[in-house]
Amino acid sequence: MEADSAITRLIPTGAANAPASEVSPDVFPSSARDLRRDGVRLLALDAHGRALNWISWQDAACLYARGAVAWTLGEPCIELRGGTCRESGARSRMHLHPIIAGRSHVRPSACDPTPALTNAALFARDRHLCLYCGRGFSRQLLTRDHVEPLSKGGLDIWENVVAACFQCNSRKGGRTPQQASMPLLAVPFRPSWVEHLILSNRNILADQMAFLSNHLPKRNPRTLA
Ligand SMILES: [Zn+2]
Repeated sequence: MEADSAITRLIPTGAANAPASEVSPDVFPSSARDLRRDGVRLLALDAHGRALNWISWQDAACLYARGAVAWTLGEPCIELRGGTCRESGARSRMHLHPIIAGRSHVRPSACDPTPALTNAALFARDRHLCLYCGRGFSRQLLTRDHVEPLSKGGLDIWENVVAACFQCNSRKGGRTPQQASMPLLAVPFRPSWVEHLILSNRNILADQMAFLSNHLPKRNPRTLA
């Protein structure tokens, strides 16, 4: 199937258990349908069920078409409609599931890689709170603070950075929290790959969240997770 030319639609959650043929293709206006379809990402696993990454519906369709899907979880969430068969007159359909395991196996050493340390990922980990004053800020008003300052040999790693508002960051300056008498509200940590997947997707479906939640690491109560 040519994914780009396929007609796609999102199956509404309330109708997830109904046969696809009973779902009206006009449930969503085209613009809203496209928005919702493109906002949905599918969770790719390896054959052992290890979470790999979010993939687009186009990439998922390629996996299905290549026969590279080993198994799936959850009710279908996106239906793709392709061309019409010349002989039967039937239109081809493909149902994409929220969680898709490919046939490949990932080496154990490649599991749980360290997520890239970007400001967006850091602020998401800290829930857009300044970890000194505890107030919430938009992304534009937050900074990356090095708990042990770089000038004192601190490293630019997950365990040594927190989100901080401009005011707190400038007040702390090149000092440690102890020197500045500004105790941290939580202990910075390196997110696991599963935590990174949760933090990096604002449109996680219920089946996907249930799966990922079951694979979250246990954390010390002083951390934010
Ligand atoms: Zn602050």
